[in-house]
Amino acid sequence: MGKPHASAPERDPALRQAMLEAMRKLSALGLNRGTSGNVGVRLQDTFLVTPSGVPAEDLTAPSLVEMDFSGAVLSGGKPSSEWRIHRDILAARADIGAVVHTHSRYATTLACLQREVPAFHYMIAAAGGDSIRCSPYALFGSQELSDLALQALAQRKACLLGNHGMLALGADLRAAMALALEVESLCEQYWSTLQIGEPHLLSTSQMQLVLEKFKTYGQRARG
Ligand code: 13P
Ligand code: ZN
Repeated sequence: MGKPHASAPERDPALRQAMLEAMRKLSALGLNRGTSGNVGVRLQDTFLVTPSGVPAEDLTAPSLVEMDFSGAVLSGGKPSSEWRIHRDILAARADIGAVVHTHSRYATTLACLQREVPAFHYMIAAAGGDSIRCSPYALFGSQELSDLALQALAQRKACLLGNHGMLALGADLRAAMALALEVESLCEQYWSTLQIGEPHLLSTSQMQLVLEKFKTYGQRARG
């Protein structure tokens, strides 16, 4: 592999703007607050990640951090403490172009119970399978947390992080954001269901049919 091409802070303006808007949206919708959560997006052979400890409203395009896959900072300041999660997911998953991390209320509530979300609703398939797994607890920013997250994400596009929050992945930032909102909504629905009874779970074969049908859902199969 050749030397990664460092992009100066003024490059990729549309992508940087989309990252700022994503972080502001997560904050406005209450999925993140203060400095919790972060976003990472793949560039050609590097990636951009939000800086550590900066509230969404204070983020600027040049403050976003470009890194290579060895973990070297190419531009910007100190990267998100979870840069290893972003690096490791983007390195391991060619299908993924963006990662969104939140401490949103309902996903985090279930994560604090270390409770995976089963197939209580067919939309669980949006995360790629018949459950949304929850990883065991590990220290924020640690390689251990990244390793556990990658395991919980096997064959999936979302997972809960034990006693911490959630991760949502997508081919691009728009898809990762949409999935983060969907996962938070599913966690709220699961939480609500648990208040009044034991949810009826869909079977493996019922979920298999949903996963199959998703391949042609919406506009993607046209043309
Ligand atoms: P950063 O501000 O370093 O991205 O940390 C926020 C967070 O959510 C840690 O898990
Ligand atoms: Zn976090």
